[in-house]
Amino acid sequence: MSDRAPQPVARQLPTDEARELISLVREIAQREIAPSAAEEEDVGRFPREVFTLLSGSGLLGLPYDDEYGGGEQPYEVYLQVLEELAAVRLTVGLGVSVHTLAAYALAAYGTKEQCAEHLPAMLGGGLLGAYCLSEPASGSDAASLRTRAVRDGGDWVLDGTKAWITHGGIADFYTVMARTGQEGPRGVTAFLVPGDAEGLSAAAPERKMGLKGSPTAQIHLDGVRVSDARRLGEEGQGFTIALSALDSGRLGIAACAIGVAQAALDTALSYAGERRQFGRPIADFQGLRFMLADMATRIEAGRALYLSAARLRDAGLPFSKQAAMAKLHCTDTVMRVTTDAVQVLGGYGYTADFPAERYLREAKVLQIVEGTNQIQRMVIGRHLLGPEER
Ligand SMILES: Cc1cc2nc3c(=O)[nH]c(=O)nc-3n(C[C@H](O)[C@H](O)[C@H](O)COP(=O)(O)OP(=O)(O)OC[C@H]3O[C@@H](n4cnc5c(N)ncnc54)[C@H](O)[C@@H]3O)c2cc1C
Repeated sequence: MSDRAPQPVARQLPTDEARELISLVREIAQREIAPSAAEEEDVGRFPREVFTLLSGSGLLGLPYDDEYGGGEQPYEVYLQVLEELAAVRLTVGLGVSVHTLAAYALAAYGTKEQCAEHLPAMLGGGLLGAYCLSEPASGSDAASLRTRAVRDGGDWVLDGTKAWITHGGIADFYTVMARTGQEGPRGVTAFLVPGDAEGLSAAAPERKMGLKGSPTAQIHLDGVRVSDARRLGEEGQGFTIALSALDSGRLGIAACAIGVAQAALDTALSYAGERRQFGRPIADFQGLRFMLADMATRIEAGRALYLSAARLRDAGLPFSKQAAMAKLHCTDTVMRVTTDAVQVLGGYGYTADFPAERYLREAKVLQIVEGTNQIQRMVIGRHLLGPEER
């Protein structure tokens, strides 16, 4: 390493407990995740044992109540944990974010009995979750979903196909949005479906350009029967629950994006300090210095934006607009920064010998998941101008 080697991110953390948490996460990340990240992403291996370790260390329930085994951490701390994990391996950071999203419907809308029965195992008992909103014919227009849940005595019977499900086929529980009533958003209800439910099966994982260690698959629900005790919230409240979960989830995606962007910048800084051309380190050329300065500035701005949205959430204030802004800005930032990181490495950046090309491939998906960046602009526009005219 040259003396220009990047330093760990200096974090603003509210408590000593949070500082210790970040140290623990950095230690786990370096010891358990970093050594195998590149190779496992290459072959598409999901590191289940890492999630078991994170669960045992209390890192799969950080923003939830300690009454049910959560870590009771503010969102601003939880998101910085995600950033640290994603910087080392996006499959892990995004996986924790999706798991947290999957637990949200129960934690925020479940009854006391439901929370007591299911949450402890979800937050710290080694279980892994999935969130099922998208379908083959309904992505951005999620309210047009077609998966049906029909009442049968004290049960519900679910039929349909969910698409693009992160952890599809390996999750222990699925938070599923299904239609129980009229067309549109008011006819949707949320259910907690166990991974081993009869009639639930997963298609072969999608073959993706990046994030290959994280399985993404269609989930088929073929006469899946769950009791009414697994309905989350009221009948017809499912779409509200889904959107509310996504407000928080988008902050998770923003934090993951900044983690990947920071990793790309660190790679570029190290390389620029060591690579020599024209008898000097390339870091001495102003053309590259300006590029690196812009990358660092975009990252700092993104981190400040997601943290300020998180602090609104922590204070119990509305944060939906700011979450959409953070998701939009941070994921556009990671796309730009990873593209520039490849450029800083020149031809080597285009090879798998350095991680820059992996970061670039991972960045793209972040502009798509949990609402594309076009949808984030629509959300922001509605906050600014009200609903669009039809
Ligand atoms: C790796 C991966 C993991 C995922 N994980 C999950 C998961 O765990 N759970 C889950 O439920 N979903 C998941 N998704 C699905 C993801 O949320 C959707 O892909 C996303 O919402 C977009 O939907 P779509 O792919 O159907 O695109 P479409 O909605 O068909 O959009 C296609 C294009 O049209 C644009 N567009 C659509 N409508 C408008 C409009 N009104 N104005 C302007 N532009 C518009 C979009 O921005 C996009 O560019 C995942 C997707 C991927 C790729």
